[in-house]
Amino acid sequence: MEIKKIGIVGAGTMGHGIAQVAASSGFEVILQDISQEQLNRALKSMEKSLDKLIEKGKISEAKETILGRLKMTTDVTALKEANFIIEAVFENLEVKKQVLQTLDSFLPSEVIITSNTSSISITKLAAFTTRADRFMGMHFMNPVPLMTLVELIKGLQTSSETFTIVKGLAEKMGKVPVEANDFPGFISNRILMPMINEAIFALMEGVGTVEAIDTVMKLGMNHPMGPLALADLIGLDVCLNIMEVLYEGFGDPKYRPCPLLRKMVEAGYLGRKSGRGFYNYS
Ligand code: NAD
Repeated sequence: MEIKKIGIVGAGTMGHGIAQVAASSGFEVILQDISQEQLNRALKSMEKSLDKLIEKGKISEAKETILGRLKMTTDVTALKEANFIIEAVFENLEVKKQVLQTLDSFLPSEVIITSNTSSISITKLAAFTTRADRFMGMHFMNPVPLMTLVELIKGLQTSSETFTIVKGLAEKMGKVPVEANDFPGFISNRILMPMINEAIFALMEGVGTVEAIDTVMKLGMNHPMGPLALADLIGLDVCLNIMEVLYEGFGDPKYRPCPLLRKMVEAGYLGRKSGRGFYNYS
């Protein structure tokens, strides 16, 4: 099966990054979102990012050529033309269910559907379609044009043929695919989020200040960014949500979200996006 036209659903942070990388890799792309405003914002971000990559010599093609492969639309039925789908809508089960059921109702049965979900069970999402064998997780990292990893998650029913096709596509997009099985948090968030949560416990218990905790991890462990600064970047609400998924999914108290994390989210201190988290951004 040759993938020619990739349909991407959701043009937010991740969707537009995936669209940019797919178009830069020579694929025809249809980027669909329910919001025209989001599509306009997505185009601006892609233009800015491509300008930078071209200036740095990382991309040799002209911006116009790359963007010429991209079609943007608010009409979901335009995705009929695509022969591969990457879903990147809100991390909300009900929204994803509605989107997947709609796609499944009109896409030919051979079309593979993937989801960029960070934390929802791939097996559960696959069950919203009639093609669980042709469904899997394709978890890109933010910012997509700069991060080389793609975590590939097989659901219980994903076929090995589907996996091989998706792996090949990830490679053609210049990414390094890593296989993970469908357990809460997959590999990336299973390891990252408990580390961030533990850093918040250390802060809450007074083991160290925000600066001390981040400096230990940066200078002592060679992390490019401290866990608390990283939590602010990801969004504290997103971190809490993923900890809840791990806690519920495993039923193991070692994944309990730190009470300080909960309190910060309740206060509206969500990190960079709200101007305040463990650091002040205003
Ligand atoms: P976002 O909020 O930036 O964008 C979501 C987009 O989906 C919005 O543009 C919204 O208009 C659109 N949308 C909502 N309902 C829709 C529908 N019915 N049809 C079409 N479009 C619809 O979210 P994001 O950060 O890009 O996250 C998208 C997915 O990627 C989530 O599953 C998230 O867990 C995952 N993810 C996010 C990150 C990250 O760092 N942001 C990293 C890896 C994976």
